[in-house]
Amino acid sequence: MYIGLGSNLDGPSGQIQRALMELVVLPRTRLLAHSHLYKSRPLGPQNQPDYINAVAMLATGLAPLELLHSLWKLEEGHGRWRMRERRWGARSLDLDILVYGDIRLQLPELTLPHPGVHLRSFVLYPLAELAPALVIPGHGPVQTLRDRCHTPPIERYEEAVNE
Ligand code: AMP
Repeated sequence: MYIGLGSNLDGPSGQIQRALMELVVLPRTRLLAHSHLYKSRPLGPQNQPDYINAVAMLATGLAPLELLHSLWKLEEGHGRWRMRERRWGARSLDLDILVYGDIRLQLPELTLPHPGVHLRSFVLYPLAELAPALVIPGHGPVQTLRDRCHTPPIERYEEAVNE
């Protein structure tokens, strides 16, 4: 299954790197691979910093809701408090379950695949890099969705090298 990671506060690339290490520690879970980091403009209010995004591929024995609640704890460890936020606002760490096998699900707190997965370049670019043959249940091949995507293309993020 695939997790989308995003951050635009408090050293975003460090937040993402740290979160990737923390995913490894989730119970009954293994990190199989992750994409490069990408940089994207925010959706919604534009008066906030650019985002850094990535996608991770996990194998997990956690059921979808158990996984979601574990991800919320991980977000809290990054100083994110959902109750206080405005929608689309800046955040230190956002973790979404993008695709969980073939599961299609609509619960009050969890929709699978994630409702935005087929529309957003900041998800589709790293997801297509990591899993080029993936077919997103209910939506189609990830590469086709990426090429058709209306949100702006995104760039790979290269960490500045200090000489
Ligand atoms: P966020 O984009 O992280 O602010 O998420 C807003 C809400 O989306 C959360 O309260 C979740 O309950 C809900 N949600 C629905 N489907 C998903 C999913 N696939 N992954 C993560 N959050 C989800």
